[in-house]
Amino acid sequence: MKRVYNFSAGPAVLPEEVLREAAEEMLDYKGTGMSVMEMSHRSKAYDTIIKEAEADLRDLMKIPDNYKVLFLQGGASQQFAMIPMNLMKNKVADYIVTGQWAKKAWQEASIYGKANKIASSEDKTFSYIPDCSDLPVSEDADYVYICENNTIYGTKFKTLPDTKGKPLVADVSSCFLSEPVDVSKYAVIYGGVQKNIGPAGVVIVIIREDMITEDVLPGTPTMLRYKIHADNDSLYNTPPAYGIYICGKVFKWLKKKGGLEAMKEYNEKKAKILYDFLDESRLFRGTVRKEDRSLMNVPFVTGNEELDAKFVKEAKEAGFENLKGHRSVGGMRASIYNAMPLEGVEKLVEFMRKFEAENL
Ligand SMILES: *Cc1c(COP(=O)(O)O)cnc(C)c1O
Repeated sequence: MKRVYNFSAGPAVLPEEVLREAAEEMLDYKGTGMSVMEMSHRSKAYDTIIKEAEADLRDLMKIPDNYKVLFLQGGASQQFAMIPMNLMKNKVADYIVTGQWAKKAWQEASIYGKANKIASSEDKTFSYIPDCSDLPVSEDADYVYICENNTIYGTKFKTLPDTKGKPLVADVSSCFLSEPVDVSKYAVIYGGVQKNIGPAGVVIVIIREDMITEDVLPGTPTMLRYKIHADNDSLYNTPPAYGIYICGKVFKWLKKKGGLEAMKEYNEKKAKILYDFLDESRLFRGTVRKEDRSLMNVPFVTGNEELDAKFVKEAKEAGFENLKGHRSVGGMRASIYNAMPLEGVEKLVEFMRKFEAENL
């Protein structure tokens, strides 16, 4: 068996320990004689799995008691519709468009009401985060929406926008659990788990209780109402049970690693190795404004498309997978989520140095 260094933006690398443990439990989960995949979601064993997952996540993120944690399906993209359907009471929302995912969310919200684009960084290919200290927030906006870490472009909000008192909704898919957050600053935090936590399909929604009401847009399907899932502790219907079980294992792994403070330190150390190299390299360069750089997704280019392609090919042969940039931007991107070991980044930089020497 050989594991590669997987720099994919998502689905992405998971902790090897978690995968091994899941493999060991595959045929007989803790003496139940069955796999978690085969188990009733109403069983005692599963009840413990989902309750522990929630408790561990609450513990990791220090989630206040007046927030619900929901384990839902449909990935992050389902939330692009679910958010306006549930929260657009005045049918007005403000969106900060800092990349493709924020743009998709904004476009989806336009189906349901007036979605205002109050800031954007599209003028410079989303390579920075706009100044959000004094935005034209709409008087009657139901919420202000951001994508906190832009997976494709490699930018991250280092300070949250001033929403002028309006509820803040954030897609944190690609920075989920990468560092501590103050949950109380948000009305809704959500993310697809396949970037930093678990298997695709599961989306975790952390939502302040006052945002959960019966008052949703007419025609909102039952399955897309936060209230139905909150009232049923994420067990209204069969949840993505196996995926939640893996998420739970990752939460335990993170706690063992020292929690989110420790992860932040580790992630900063990893990112610094790569960014320092990019800043000194004569061949490669990062594409993002320095102060807005993501700790998780690091895009870079040589400036020559053929050379980029050659790099991606040779890197793959050397055991560094999925370094090709998103199809919409080209170049390269190294996603260095929680589960990417420091050694993986060190070896990548070593490889880049060698490639530089051979190709300059
Ligand atoms: C990947 C990603 C999405 C889309 O996730 P799906 O689960 O495929 O719907 C949305 N937002 C961000 C920030 C992402 O990185």
